[in-house]
Amino acid sequence: KQIQIAIDGPAAAGKSTIAKKAAELLGYTYVDTGAMYRAITYKAIKSNIDMQDEDKLTNLLKETSIELKPSPEGQRVFLDNQEVTEEIRSKEVTASVSLVAAHAELREEMVRRQVEMGKNGSVVMDGRDIGTSVLTNAELKIFMSASVEERAKRRLSENKKRGIHSSLEELMYDIELRDKLDSEREASPLVQAEDAIFIDTTSLTIDEVSEKIMKLAKE
Ligand code: C5P
Repeated sequence: KQIQIAIDGPAAAGKSTIAKKAAELLGYTYVDTGAMYRAITYKAIKSNIDMQDEDKLTNLLKETSIELKPSPEGQRVFLDNQEVTEEIRSKEVTASVSLVAAHAELREEMVRRQVEMGKNGSVVMDGRDIGTSVLTNAELKIFMSASVEERAKRRLSENKKRGIHSSLEELMYDIELRDKLDSEREASPLVQAEDAIFIDTTSLTIDEVSEKIMKLAKE
């Protein structure tokens, strides 16, 4: 039987770390939907498209291929067959992605693709609207969060590993701004699905969270 696990929550809550780990342990495919919104944002920046221009952005997406490929070092992202795994994590992309993701028509196309990806065997998918719009019948829905400070600290050490220099204050600002944009947009805003299980990860380690999720997945 195909099993779907949906993991949603605000920025830098540890969703991708946990989703990746759970997928590995369960032998499922991991799908990072945030990477897809980041990839189209990266292309929009390169193409000099106005982040408010919904028609242009939606048309751009329709003629763009975005592929996620698993690898031992983690998921690799390909935009029109070119690898952009690192590029989509830049500050520039991070600052614009929530503006791009706010457009309803663009989201429709993204959700259509993600629903298809969810049909190819068992998956763990993470994002903002997976439980509410993409895998609405998922066997397990998780909504993960943590305090803003804790999330900024985690992102700081992640950025360090990626060679991106940032300060805690800057990251707290970015995280709060994206949370606000993602929660207040009209098109499928960031909200917990009614049937999702809430996990506050502020004082939990990665292992503790993934252990919790493995337990729930086995039920
Ligand atoms: O998960 P990540 O932080 O990389 O996502 C980047 C941005 O993409 C989010 O801040 C949000 O604006 C958008 N996003 C979304 N819906 C998803 C996944 C990401 O709107 N399912």
